[in-house]
Amino acid sequence: METERLIWFKEEIIPVSQAKINVLAPTSQFGVNVFEGIRCYWNEEKEQLYAFKLTEHINRLINSAKIMDFDLKYDFNFLKNSFLDIVRANNFKEDITVRQTLFLDGFGSWSSKGPLEMFIAPIPKGRPYDKIGIDCCVSSFERINDNSLSPRVKVGANYMNSRLGHLEAVKNGYDTAIFLNNQKKVSEGPGSCIFIIRDEKLITPPVTASILESITRQNIIDIAKSDLNIDVVERDIDRTELYICDEAFLCGTAMEITSVLTIDRYAVGNKSKGKLTEQLREFYFKMVRGKLKNYDQFLTPIY
Ligand code: PMP
Repeated sequence: METERLIWFKEEIIPVSQAKINVLAPTSQFGVNVFEGIRCYWNEEKEQLYAFKLTEHINRLINSAKIMDFDLKYDFNFLKNSFLDIVRANNFKEDITVRQTLFLDGFGSWSSKGPLEMFIAPIPKGRPYDKIGIDCCVSSFERINDNSLSPRVKVGANYMNSRLGHLEAVKNGYDTAIFLNNQKKVSEGPGSCIFIIRDEKLITPPVTASILESITRQNIIDIAKSDLNIDVVERDIDRTELYICDEAFLCGTAMEITSVLTIDRYAVGNKSKGKLTEQLREFYFKMVRGKLKNYDQFLTPIY
């Protein structure tokens, strides 16, 4: 039962149905919270659940809290051990996503400093799209930028920009949107980063292009360079490059590696999964499930 699933909530492990936040808390009213979505992959053969890149996620959570000027009472080890405690408590033997959130509680306003609390909620979760690839449009909404609301911070309020872009795309018959930034260059999706492939080169916007410093994006850059011998270029991407690229995909913890088949109804390559994208995806899934030697350092066994 979903409501009986256990959640780590304000230093207690309780059923999720009992985890209550008051309506006047700044997190409820203004989205004053920073969070991570962390996937754990079940390896049937080893009967083990692995958290993927947990260290990187916890470090990004700490950075988000710092930028938002939160007084974080927990250190790295506490944040990590609490994560492990709650995943173990649920005894999952399947792929899951875990939402680890630091939120502003109490009765203050958007500018109040505390109390800062945490919840960690594991959620069984499949793949967002059950098809070979997706149709995207370039959003008429502009991506938020570092001088207004930084996309580098994984703060709840940022997702209102994501929401507008994504829902507009869906209303117009697309699966999701790709944002341009305030320089009119390609930035990212509502909850994912983007790569295109031109002439066998992997191209992705730099971390200064109004994007989240995505853990999956960096992982793909590393795999491409060191394991698959694919050239990677981090540079600005123009909108019309999206229309003439050979392959394109969105990536992220939830999105994993999802092929893009059309953009603004222009066919991407021959509207298939894409050869290099498929190579990367195969490698990625072996890696996250603990099926490759020499990649153990990115996996934290839960049991
Ligand atoms: N951009 C945005 C806006 C996101 O929400 C996400 C998902 N966390 C990503 C990119 C991908 O980041 P990651 O690979 O770290 O999940």
